[in-house]
Amino acid sequence: MYSKKVVIRYTATNVDQPIICQLVKKHDLDFNILKAQILPRREGVIVVELSGSKENFDKGIRFLKEKGLTVEPVSKNVSQNNDKCVHCGACTAFCPTDALYLERQSMKVLFDAEKCNGCELCVLACPPRAMEVNIF
Ligand code: SF4
Ligand code: SF4
Repeated sequence: MYSKKVVIRYTATNVDQPIICQLVKKHDLDFNILKAQILPRREGVIVVELSGSKENFDKGIRFLKEKGLTVEPVSKNVSQNNDKCVHCGACTAFCPTDALYLERQSMKVLFDAEKCNGCELCVLACPPRAMEVNIF
């Protein structure tokens, strides 16, 4: 079973269409809406976890793009605010993918966006709230 959180952005022209409904029926995917901000007749954003076979997931993402939606992994919206980070290392104990890691040479905690899966565990774990998820 493949599962991934994605951010789906609608435009004013497709925000009223039942595209998620079509997606899960057509491609046999389960979905769990985690966050949403939909403005009728304007743009909209939803964060959804899609689960199913990898093949169906890939087909589903293609379907969404063909419908004119923008789709990106949640991880693309995760960032480390270097003005706030005090390099305490707390987040490294929670990060399941080692996207946050201690660089021994500089003794700084660095963020590797390529490894991030968008789980957001670091957001709550970080005392000065240096890990940010900017979706809306
Ligand atoms: S928990 Fe926050 S402040 Fe501490 S290293 Fe991680 S991002 Fe920086
Ligand atoms: S969102 Fe999850 S995977 Fe990404 S850096 Fe934070 S804890 Fe690690």
